[in-house]
Amino acid sequence: MKAIQIVAPYQMEYVDLPTPQPGADEVLLRVRASGLCHTDVNILEGEFHASYPVIPGHEFVGEVVEVGAEVDPKWMGMKVAVDPNVPCGLCNACHTNRQNQCENLNSYGVTMGGGFAEYVVVKEGNIHSIGDLSVDHAAFAEPLACVLHGLHQIPTYRGGNALIFGAGPMGLLMLQSLKLNGITEVSMVDLYRERLAIATELGASQVYVPQEIAGQDKQYDIVVDATGVPAVIEKLPHYTATSGSILYFGVCSPGQQVKIEPYDIYRRDIRIAGSFSLRAGIAPALKLLEDGFIQVDKLITHRIDLEQLAEGIKLVGQASVLKVIVQS
Ligand SMILES: [Zn+2]
Ligand SMILES: [Zn+2]
Repeated sequence: MKAIQIVAPYQMEYVDLPTPQPGADEVLLRVRASGLCHTDVNILEGEFHASYPVIPGHEFVGEVVEVGAEVDPKWMGMKVAVDPNVPCGLCNACHTNRQNQCENLNSYGVTMGGGFAEYVVVKEGNIHSIGDLSVDHAAFAEPLACVLHGLHQIPTYRGGNALIFGAGPMGLLMLQSLKLNGITEVSMVDLYRERLAIATELGASQVYVPQEIAGQDKQYDIVVDATGVPAVIEKLPHYTATSGSILYFGVCSPGQQVKIEPYDIYRRDIRIAGSFSLRAGIAPALKLLEDGFIQVDKLITHRIDLEQLAEGIKLVGQASVLKVIVQS
């Protein structure tokens, strides 16, 4: 089968590999759509806990073309979205329903073969039928599930307001999800006006480029970083209302640091929450997509073929690029 492989940091190749065979509790998927994510860039640059060589891609949808001996045959021919996380089921985190923090966590596209290939083998327990949803839309189940996990990490007040830094695909999913959770006013900041225009179309109350918000004293109940940029994260308490919450949602490189004033966090009851990956959110995410509560058509700006991915990955982060869907 054709696949994209990251052999080592900064070494991405379009290769021919043997098609994997499903184990007893696994299925073989013919990949139909696979979303390109900034995490794939982090893996390419050696800034994420990946195992090399690896086939990246953790936001994928495929059709079941073969089932293992112990797998329910009903799955044959079904189109499914995949939960990329494979927790061990044995550690303390797994036993306390924090599977995303499993001490022995494996993930398709990070430590095991992912969706940037013609075929991929995944466990039966990781697949979810997408019903009548298109494969392109269903490819958003994974990123949306990450957003849903983020929202579980902070209290949301109905009628409250929020400010999101970063109007990339994750920020724009966060915008819509906050509004669904009863946050009536959600504003966004991004470097690029093109992205902010889409944020406005998707319901943002106010949009700003960084220089427009730099001197502003307005404060928000929820402030989300969806940039992973330390210089942005450092400024978040300034924009956070008393008793408000800050969510670290973007991915900084390990080892990066920021300066904050602990007295201010203490005195004003500020909550700072982290949010890593997803926790059992694929099914609710698919339901939100299927019922039209979350709009993703405007987020798909590019569709490319698998063989174009080594070039296509350079698109990530550009002004006019939101989600790149890879077809194989
Ligand atoms: Zn992702
Ligand atoms: Zn575990």
